[in-house]
Amino acid sequence: MTRHGDVHQVEQAGSLTSDVVIAGGGPAGLAAALSFAREGWRVSVVEKAPPGVLESPSFDGREIALTHHTVHWLKQHGVWDHIPAEAVCPLEVARVESGRLGGQPLIFHAPGIVPGSAADDEVPDGEPLGFLVANHLIRRALHQAVRRTEGITLLCQTGVTGFQAGREMVQVSLSDGRAMQARLLVGADGRFSRIREMAGIGAIVHDFSMSILVCRMRHLTPHDNTALQWFDERQTIALLPVAPDGGMGDISSLVLTLPPDDIARLRVAAPDDFNAEITRRTDERLGLLRVMSDRITYPLKAVYAHRFHAPRVALIGDAAVGMHPITAHGFNFGIRGQETLVQELSAGPGDPGDAASLQRFERRHRKATFPLFAATNAIAVAYTRDDGPFPLARRAGLMLANRLAPFKKAVTRMLMDPV
Ligand SMILES: Cc1cc2nc3c(=O)[nH]c(=O)nc-3n(C[C@H](O)[C@H](O)[C@H](O)COP(=O)(O)OP(=O)(O)OC[C@H]3O[C@@H](n4cnc5c(N)ncnc54)[C@H](O)[C@@H]3O)c2cc1C
Repeated sequence: MTRHGDVHQVEQAGSLTSDVVIAGGGPAGLAAALSFAREGWRVSVVEKAPPGVLESPSFDGREIALTHHTVHWLKQHGVWDHIPAEAVCPLEVARVESGRLGGQPLIFHAPGIVPGSAADDEVPDGEPLGFLVANHLIRRALHQAVRRTEGITLLCQTGVTGFQAGREMVQVSLSDGRAMQARLLVGADGRFSRIREMAGIGAIVHDFSMSILVCRMRHLTPHDNTALQWFDERQTIALLPVAPDGGMGDISSLVLTLPPDDIARLRVAAPDDFNAEITRRTDERLGLLRVMSDRITYPLKAVYAHRFHAPRVALIGDAAVGMHPITAHGFNFGIRGQETLVQELSAGPGDPGDAASLQRFERRHRKATFPLFAATNAIAVAYTRDDGPFPLARRAGLMLANRLAPFKKAVTRMLMDPV
């Protein structure tokens, strides 16, 4: 039985009907499927990639910094148990630096790690700032939870190619020629979303004209569970702690932002040359770095949809808010967004495409995401300009921020997003 008894998921004569169709089986789409199913709605997830890609996704270089709220959600929805405990790396310290000419780094400690550090009634002492987990392990765990949940149908190797929204239903066309009917179509098809485009929803697209290279690197100097974000002259580097694998030394994830030509060169450089260049670029902070994974590159573009809904359509995940990775909030916002969407629809009159509920979802999710989206883009621009007064101004900014206890508390709370 479905939540409201009137819409059943049946496959007949090549047509499929369910309460909700989700376009995209990425992290946001699979999480939304779990939330809708928990509320008793029948869900179909349509994903372009073949089933093997969802069952055992390959390493994609992303190490996701999970907030406490996200971990709580993953636990509640039976996802966390599918992530191997030894693959989770607690994040104790976040360190932000600017340039090579000294200047105070801005340091965020997990509360209680350093006496008096950002003490905050809302943030429990003794907890890490967050948890780093490889993206492919999160995606695999979400898929395992989806497979065990009743009420979810997964259609792989099939794309959503079009839709038509009516008063009561939305008709969805699939790349295999079939049609689907639902009360709501959810666009979870990533930051270059076709659903967003087909719904006539524009987006702020911030092209930083930079590329990112990500990979895992082994080193003998311990990382001490510290994430470093370093806005250096002509390069931005993040080194994120990764859980040990039993091999020699520690492992960090390198996130290097450079102009596209430099990134293209480094992606194919011989391993010894690559190691030497990255060791030099990181000022030997972690000693000699040795690459131990594929090197994966991404274009650096941030996206924010003008609206998160249209008649019988909702946008979630990167299709709604595609963050710049420096704040490590894209996936966390994806979890928040689908949670808010399902909460608002569940509190509505029982129609998963109810327009007033979709409006409430949009208001709440915009309020939760826009300030950080705008601030991140401003910081990313200010911290990557090396001309005029920018280098001096950002060092002064870090020094000032370091002395402002309320600012540090607010950022610590944002990083942790306590339950
Ligand atoms: C280097 C890097 C580091 C990051 N680090 C962090 C971090 O520390 N913390 C954090 O919270 N976030 C982080 N993020 C962001 C996070 O990875 C993304 O926000 C998240 O993966 C987005 O998930 P999604 O499901 O919205 O989109 P996607 O992962 O893009 O999934 C979209 C899915 O839709 C499918 N699809 C597309 N079109 C169609 C169609 N027409 N029909 C059917 N299926 C379709 C695609 O095949 C894909 O599977 C990082 C991102 C990068 C690049």
